[in-house]
Amino acid sequence: MNWISEWALPKIKTLFGAPREVPENLWHTCPACEQMIFHRDLERNLHVCTHCGHHMRVGARQRLDYTLDAGWSRIELPKAPQDPLRFRDQRRYVDRLRETQTRTAQEDAVVVAHGMIEGSKVVAAAFEFSFMGGSMGAGVGEALVTAARLAVLQDAPLIVFTASGGARMQEGAISLMQMPRTVIATRMVKEAGLPYIVVLCDPTTGGVTASFAMLGDIQIAEPGALIGFAGARVIEQTVREKLPEGFQRAEYLLEHGILDMVVKRPEMRATLARLIGLLRVPERLAVPAEAFVALPAPAEADDAPTPA
Ligand SMILES: [Zn+2]
Repeated sequence: MNWISEWALPKIKTLFGAPREVPENLWHTCPACEQMIFHRDLERNLHVCTHCGHHMRVGARQRLDYTLDAGWSRIELPKAPQDPLRFRDQRRYVDRLRETQTRTAQEDAVVVAHGMIEGSKVVAAAFEFSFMGGSMGAGVGEALVTAARLAVLQDAPLIVFTASGGARMQEGAISLMQMPRTVIATRMVKEAGLPYIVVLCDPTTGGVTASFAMLGDIQIAEPGALIGFAGARVIEQTVREKLPEGFQRAEYLLEHGILDMVVKRPEMRATLARLIGLLRVPERLAVPAEAFVALPAPAEADDAPTPA
């Protein structure tokens, strides 16, 4: 009896079970063009489809690896109250949360790091969409406040990579309170005269769009990213009109003046480095106010545009 389970079964499993496990992770299917991509090619191309250029979703740590110089360090975040409302739907929220924490090896949906981008120091916060849809509860609010405080403390620009479905409904009103809280956090960075750059990644919706994610000095998005407040179907049903092609996509928002730039993932690092350089130039040059010569008033006062 025992020899069957101890000797024969493992043998059979090795013979039939093992080969099946190998190919699964070697090839990925692009969700946009459905072509197969070898995992090494995909990794080399920063998870951008080599056939159609579709930007696949990536995790928070992966994104920081792609953007920051090697050797960035993760910041330990203060503990936020877990399950303050003792919420329960089909399952207890606290169970759902613990399971997600184990699966993702993260406390909550945001990773905060400090490091360099091409030699310029930065503080970065990246959302993990696979952590309950990157939803914003007290833990995420705490992460963003910590990131903002750290940026001020280190005299470094703050970069936030968003990917979120919005407020975390399991935390009810407490999740909504994170909206003003994160806005105040970004104000701290601006008041300290530091750049605050937002990179909107697929998807960024709901309460995150309605708060800190739209307040960057520079608003960047990845190609094809879904960005909006309410879902397209809800809007369509409310306004009773067919929505235009590409509605709520990064390119559409750029065309309509909501974004400053749409940047491909492989160019993100260099773009951020260039922006930080440009935004911090006055400080580096340290030109005193007396150095600027006041221009003489225009001779024909009648033609001068009247100030608004
Ligand atoms: Zn593709």
